[in-house]
Amino acid sequence: MSTAPTPPPEPDTTRIAELAEAGARLLVGTFIDNAGITRVKTVPFDRAGTAARSGIGLSPAFAVMCLDDHVTATGKFGGPVGDLRLLPDLSTATVIDAERGIAWAPLDQYDQELARFPLCQRDVLRRQEQQASELELAFLAAFEIEFTLLTSSGAPVHTGPGYGLGPLLDLEAFALDLLEALATAGVGVGTLHPEYGPGQVEISLAPRTPVAAVDQYVLARLVIGRTARRHGLTVSFAPVTLADEIGNGSHVHFSATQAGHNVFTGGEQIHGLTTTGAQLIAGVVDNSCAAAGVLTPTIASYERLQPGHWSGAYACWGLENREAAVRLIRGSAGTRSASANVEVKSIDGASNPYLVLATILGLGLSGVREERTLCQPVEENPDAIPAQTRADRGIHQLPTSLPDALDRLEQSKVLRSILGEDLVDCLVAVRRHEVDTYTETPMHQRIQLVRDRY
Ligand code: GLU
Ligand code: MG
Repeated sequence: MSTAPTPPPEPDTTRIAELAEAGARLLVGTFIDNAGITRVKTVPFDRAGTAARSGIGLSPAFAVMCLDDHVTATGKFGGPVGDLRLLPDLSTATVIDAERGIAWAPLDQYDQELARFPLCQRDVLRRQEQQASELELAFLAAFEIEFTLLTSSGAPVHTGPGYGLGPLLDLEAFALDLLEALATAGVGVGTLHPEYGPGQVEISLAPRTPVAAVDQYVLARLVIGRTARRHGLTVSFAPVTLADEIGNGSHVHFSATQAGHNVFTGGEQIHGLTTTGAQLIAGVVDNSCAAAGVLTPTIASYERLQPGHWSGAYACWGLENREAAVRLIRGSAGTRSASANVEVKSIDGASNPYLVLATILGLGLSGVREERTLCQPVEENPDAIPAQTRADRGIHQLPTSLPDALDRLEQSKVLRSILGEDLVDCLVAVRRHEVDTYTETPMHQRIQLVRDRY
């Protein structure tokens, strides 16, 4: 997919001075690769302006870097030749620890001519944000982050009860430090609670415009990681961290306004949806099987994505249905124009969040362009419906294995048009390496691998 070159913006010297004034001495730049791994390059802060102008070098082979750091190959990527430039987006940079002088910024990927690298995941999302505005739609999105906290010996920090006061009291010092660190970093937090599974904690983030919502999620994971380490704990955002236990989701909520009106409420269609709202949901639901290769992209994702786990294992939608991949949330009476939103539940934290949100919004927009008709909602537990009735109603389970998900992604025209041909080829290659290398690996070792890497 070719895009018009967008030259990088000239770094804002006032902003650089403000960050230096706020204590920045080291700039930590992050990007998320196609294996969902957060990769990092840092520069002393006095080089931040130079880095934002001419970039930091990166091999294009990172497009096919796998979760175990193996470099795989597509026809175009994987060789040792070439260079990309990583440019910290200083307009988003923030000081996360003034005492230690740590600042953070997301990195954008350019080529040496300083034209956008077409596989820059953050730019793929930016393009969907632009396409929404061409359809006069404005999106907001917010992530929920579930993670497992483990002691240094690998034991979960709590053993329930899920959502229990006891685990919160045990974790009080960590929780207070975390909330303070997130506030310092400018991360908007909705809620924090101990989750259902052993060692699980969840925080939900405040809504932001799409790229900002993902940047905030990336920053929040960084801050959670730092805070956990300060408390002598390890943290994992992997879909599965302990055998036979409930997994970690990375659910995304999104809403859209058209002419200032929330399209998920106040309309004439079922459950008060507007026509545009219904079309947005239809685009996501109808393509949710193909999207699994992006949203639930590692072998362990399919240990989590099972019926009965509230992970949204069925390719359907429903009002407040926690077993549907797509859950419509109307919000409380009197607040709906602000609060009605759609949650995509199937997503997990081994995914690339920029590509996850680009996929969801891009599929939604395809539903609007194609004027899709929304299928009937599922208002009960889809898993409790007899198999034949379920099939007659066209309710299917999402892919149940990574190979199946990758085949569907590879063949999806709509996802290829949203993400770009080369990017889809890289995503598939990176994840097929996992299938080829780890399918026969004993489950506990597979869990260990994702637990340590995400
Ligand atoms: N832990 C569940 C998941 O894997 C989600 C539970 C919830 O609804 O918050 O997605
Ligand atoms: Mg949860």
